[in-house]
Amino acid sequence: MRRNPQELDKMRRAGKVVAEMHERTRAAIRPGITTLELDRVAREVLERRGATSNFLGYHGFPAVICTSPNDMIVHGIPGGYRLEEGDIISIDCGAIVEGYHGDAAYSAGVGGISAEAARLIEVTERSLWAGIAQLTKGGRLHEVGRAVQEVAESAGFTVVREYVGHAIGTAMHEQPQVPNYWPGTPGPTLKTGMVFAVEPMVNAGGPGTRLLDDGWSVVTADGSLSAHFEHTIAVTEDGPEVFTLA
Ligand code: MG
Ligand code: MG
Repeated sequence: MRRNPQELDKMRRAGKVVAEMHERTRAAIRPGITTLELDRVAREVLERRGATSNFLGYHGFPAVICTSPNDMIVHGIPGGYRLEEGDIISIDCGAIVEGYHGDAAYSAGVGGISAEAARLIEVTERSLWAGIAQLTKGGRLHEVGRAVQEVAESAGFTVVREYVGHAIGTAMHEQPQVPNYWPGTPGPTLKTGMVFAVEPMVNAGGPGTRLLDDGWSVVTADGSLSAHFEHTIAVTEDGPEVFTLA
């Protein structure tokens, strides 16, 4: 699906709201804060900007962000968990402006973290940017996953297979999917106006995942740490344009 300039402008505005949710939640991260309090910080941004949530009510999801600490990969439900010094936390945020969606995630340390945890976060973010660089007119979509995988695996980490990125527009999750690994085929040819959410999930141990009994929280099968970074990006004549940057 290719978006026209008016649609891209709405997605740009949704992306700015998501970027502000990142800024505000990142500034609130500290030992002792609960993940539910981080959700309230994000809600306040949505309300003040007149945007709506694409997470709240999604298949019954009860919050406007996902909060996934330590070995949790994605989709953690905000609640009573209190962040502790040394934790890492992945926060996924989304917003809708005039019917168009933005979606982006980041991982951060809580206070001082181990060198290995810091390296996992740095490599995962770098793998996202390597993937984003592939979103050029005439390129092939699955080069994104190839680039992500190369960065993650050359650092000794693994990429999650069961959860992937996606096209985005008038729905948060549109086709086609954007794997974070080389799936064996080059995939669709990229055209201007296409918009994707690229979102590497990188594990310090093996790539396997496990779904917790709450039906949402996805953790690493081996209990190793996991990090998650995501942006919403358009393919333009001038290369990739990241909508979810401040
Ligand atoms: Mg997301
Ligand atoms: Mg997404």
